[in-house]
Amino acid sequence: MFGAVVVGIGTAGSVRIRDILAPLPNSPAEKLTVRGFTSRRSLDSQQGVSQISVEEAVSTEDIHVAFICTENVSHEDNIRTFLQAGKHVCVEYPMAMNYKAAVELWDLAQEKGVILHEEHIELLSEDYKQLKKEVEGKMLEEGTLHFTGGPLKPGFGPLAFSGIARLTWLVELFGELSVTAATIEEDSGINFCKMTAKLFTADNKPLTWIEERRPGLPRTKNINFHFGSCTLTQIPGAPRGAVGLFMQDLVHFSAKLVGQVSAEELKREKIRILHCLELADRIQKLCQR
Ligand code: NAD
Repeated sequence: MFGAVVVGIGTAGSVRIRDILAPLPNSPAEKLTVRGFTSRRSLDSQQGVSQISVEEAVSTEDIHVAFICTENVSHEDNIRTFLQAGKHVCVEYPMAMNYKAAVELWDLAQEKGVILHEEHIELLSEDYKQLKKEVEGKMLEEGTLHFTGGPLKPGFGPLAFSGIARLTWLVELFGELSVTAATIEEDSGINFCKMTAKLFTADNKPLTWIEERRPGLPRTKNINFHFGSCTLTQIPGAPRGAVGLFMQDLVHFSAKLVGQVSAEELKREKIRILHCLELADRIQKLCQR
């Protein structure tokens, strides 16, 4: 069994505890057992699980795994703490707020011989899987992905990083990308911000990624993908899968722990994650100019 600690009890942390307590039957997630949670607040037990200190979590031998579920800006430090203690880490995306830190964390995981896993539930949704099928085999001419949503809570970082799930979609759909320009419009008085990034595919086809947030904006993704043969303006609807997204991610992470994921797949994931973080880093720097 792999003893686990959940770090940060917000929405994601509570879901992690729920899923570890009731794992998908006959899946490697059954190999996880939750031994405690940590929080900066002093909390009562959560779903029957007790609060422990970070020091205890780090030094307890039968805690082998940490789930980092805090706000984005503190992911890097939390991951480092647990990797340094030789624990496997599952972190909610994004793992860090800059590319250099992410590379260092992967190197540290490798040095310690432990798994570092970044959750990407957006790649597990039925909508995404359907979209991926529709896009496959089509030649992109140009495209736009425009995300809208309400304002971000403090600590979730710049839009290029908090929105890494959308960037990850674009990379998974269209392959490696490059960034040529990025701008940010902001009005703190009305809590508005909008980032526009100009990207290119490996065959020089333009893609525009927009992240827009302001009070009252519905959380939605609008697409406009022009292909040689047709245009896609809507994400195809698909019924929800039987297994929740966080549970699917938990099964994937625990499959890595028990050695059921091939070295090639681990490498492919790492390359994709670092590529997306490198793009986000570049976009963020262009926005600051
Ligand atoms: P959240 O705001 O619910 O929690 C974030 C942090 O705030 C946690 O450390 C939590 O302990 C702390 N917190 C929550 N309520 C608090 C309170 N009342 N007082 C003091 N601290 C409090 O955010 P979240 O949705 O759990 O997101 C955490 C991470 O998970 C982020 O990295 C996010 O990108 C990622 N994530 C979340 C979802 C989701 O559906 N919620 C999906 C994918 C990824």
